[in-house]
Amino acid sequence: MKYSVEFSCGHTEEVQIYGKAEERERKIRYFGKSGLCHECYKKKMNEENAENCEEVVMSYREYKENYAGCKTKAGSYDKTEKTIVVYVPKKEEKEEDAKEICQKALEAIVKSKNKTAEEVTPADVYDELVEKGYDIRRLKDMPDNIRNDIIERKEHWS
Ligand SMILES: [Zn+2]
Repeated sequence: MKYSVEFSCGHTEEVQIYGKAEERERKIRYFGKSGLCHECYKKKMNEENAENCEEVVMSYREYKENYAGCKTKAGSYDKTEKTIVVYVPKKEEKEEDAKEICQKALEAIVKSKNKTAEEVTPADVYDELVEKGYDIRRLKDMPDNIRNDIIERKEHWS
């Protein structure tokens, strides 16, 4: 049945509601208490998806090829231009601290390889960092002991 429902945002919209009379009433009450109309829901989703992201207009093709993992702005597809607004995550502004990166790598290894922190070898850390895409030689502020452990002793790894 079609109902004209007033949502919690104050807008009224026609909604198709199914089910028993009791359930339909419950749904209508729910919409009035915490539901959002179509437009407000879209706006809310866009705001959530835009968090820590930049809105980038790009061709739909580029989106599919290179940004398929990103959220898009609802209703932003331009049929004529074949463009869409994509929420591209902002790049981290501050450089990550090498110590922090190594610590994170260590924690990841402990979790995934079922080792204790003491059992993790420099080789494990090196592999983990490489897998995450870090170039260890280029990491700034890498503490010397870690650098020595990871890089200098590489040839002694078993
Ligand atoms: Zn609304």
